[in-house]
Amino acid sequence: MSDGDSVKKVQVSLVLAGFLRLLARRPEIPAATIADVVLFTAGEKVAVRFAVPTEVRTELDHWASDCGLAADSRTMGIKRVADWTCVGVDESLATEHLDVVVYARSQKDASVICETETSGTSAQAGLLLGYPPCCVAAYECYSKGPADWIGRALARSGAGPFPCWANRLPLSWGAPTFIGELYPCSFDCASATRRGRLVFELLQEFGLEKLAQTILAQAILPVAGGSIAAPRETKRVNTAPDLLLEFVE
Ligand SMILES: [Zn+2]
Repeated sequence: MSDGDSVKKVQVSLVLAGFLRLLARRPEIPAATIADVVLFTAGEKVAVRFAVPTEVRTELDHWASDCGLAADSRTMGIKRVADWTCVGVDESLATEHLDVVVYARSQKDASVICETETSGTSAQAGLLLGYPPCCVAAYECYSKGPADWIGRALARSGAGPFPCWANRLPLSWGAPTFIGELYPCSFDCASATRRGRLVFELLQEFGLEKLAQTILAQAILPVAGGSIAAPRETKRVNTAPDLLLEFVE
């Protein structure tokens, strides 16, 4: 085994396995974040971001500290619109408060991204978090009418069928996806598709074959009567810890 391989193995074990153990215990952590942590573990993202209650952030802080990661966080007012979480709304509109926390391998990255994310410049934060520029631009458009982001995405997508790799819809019923927290600019976006496919490949490379196949099965949606239906056997990974803990060390 080369030095590079052993460094990678330690990172996977510490960062990803540690995160999955925490996720199995804490259903408050969005399952969407699995894909982002996989990309971060592989060095494909400089930082990961969570919006969670303070007590969950404290546990994430322990995980990050064990992994030698830097952190920065702010408590923000939140309002939920359909499956959209509006962060940093006026206090008069906030229905709850969550901690937005960013973990990175350098303190500078964690602080810059946290400040950008929480100061109302979400497009810049999206680029710093490694999201494709086309999808970051579309996010700005979606955010003007979050309740109808799916309709707007479909209007940009052309005729289906669409590749399963950039399918975000399973998040609506609590299942994870390969594109994590990314809102694709269309269900046919080449950059989002490439990213989702990479997460699928990395999950297998990291020994998480069963999790990869479960997410894949849920990303391929049955279409009934012209509309998309949730699969009957949805696995919400946060309530199926055995799926998360299959990790081979
Ligand atoms: Zn895109």
